Amino acid sequence: ATFSAGAALFPNHAQSINDLLIYADTALLSAKESGRNQIKWLNAKMMTATTRKTKVDSKLAVAIREGQIFPHYQAEVELSTGKIIGFEALARWHDQELGMVSPAEFIPLAEQSGAIDPLTERLFAQVVKDSHAIRARFPNATIALNSSPQLLTGKRLLTMLSHLASELENGLDGFVLEITETDFSLSPQELASQLQAIMGLGVRIAIDDFGKSYSSLSRLASMPIQKLKIDMSFTAGMEREENVKIVSAILALAQSLSLEVTAEGVENRFQQDTLIGLGCQQAQGYFYAKPMQLQEILTLAPHLIPEKDAC
Ligand code: C2E
Ligand code: MG
Ligand code: MG
Repeated sequence: ATFSAGAALFPNHAQSINDLLIYADTALLSAKESGRNQIKWLNAKMMTATTRKTKVDSKLAVAIREGQIFPHYQAEVELSTGKIIGFEALARWHDQELGMVSPAEFIPLAEQSGAIDPLTERLFAQVVKDSHAIRARFPNATIALNSSPQLLTGKRLLTMLSHLASELENGLDGFVLEITETDFSLSPQELASQLQAIMGLGVRIAIDDFGKSYSSLSRLASMPIQKLKIDMSFTAGMEREENVKIVSAILALAQSLSLEVTAEGVENRFQQDTLIGLGCQQAQGYFYAKPMQLQEILTLAPHLIPEKDAC
């Protein structure tokens, strides 16, 4: 099958031949995505997004090397009391020209370019460094790290974590590793053995954004994991009965597999109360605290009792 793509190139947006080629590529991709045999006109929105993506990509390696990307922390609470029980480390990058660059923008690019290895290494090292101050203030709080599932290939994640564990008196006790459900390229046996080895370092394993995408329940049952994090789309959609039913089903599944559950993205009292009513015990979301710099979380009270909805 053949397809054709027409690109309207506006010379005033393009700074170089390279830009023109990238714009043409964007039009081509967009034409492919919406089906073959299409004429697709490149619009200003597509060009702005492409230009930003190219800039983010070109600045990423330097940003990693110079430590411009570092962790912020978001509290996780016990729903019934508001007690802080843990923190999740989330990567943050502020660039002079681009402003805030979200991890949703730069993590996929880092995965494509191979920069995910040095990026993850640097972030993990910083979190371990910060963990001493966090533990001094919140002695029993867990600290969660996000990892790209890609790093499971070639045991790169295990190598990174083993190295970090060797630097700490109690290994990685109290750390949680969050990985998203994906169609893992490893065999179930290989995946299970790597996760077991990671757990041997003291790390507990959580499945992030649970329910959002591909999910093999048979694989879930065979994976050595301790926790599910319910994707925030379900939390946000709990005004609708069908989403309440999904959350309730995930909680039942977790209970039968003896897994802990955290509901992500809690923004208001209605969501909090619905989750408590369903028997969910842990939550995270703007209702309690946004991701913050290390110094800010160290000033948080041990219990977060929100007074008003975040949105
Ligand atoms: P995630 O791990 O599921 O993290 C939760 C995301 O939800 C964070 O977005 C957080 O800021 C946001 N969030 C928390 N509470 C609320 C809420 O109440 N409402 C709404 N609307 N959002 C809320 P963030 O920091 O932009 O991160 C996006 C994703 O990027 C993360 O999703 C994670 O998958 C990835 N990511 C972040 N940091 C890293 C990292 O260091 N390494 C890797 N591999 N991925 C990371
Ligand atoms: Mg996460
Ligand atoms: Mg998540």
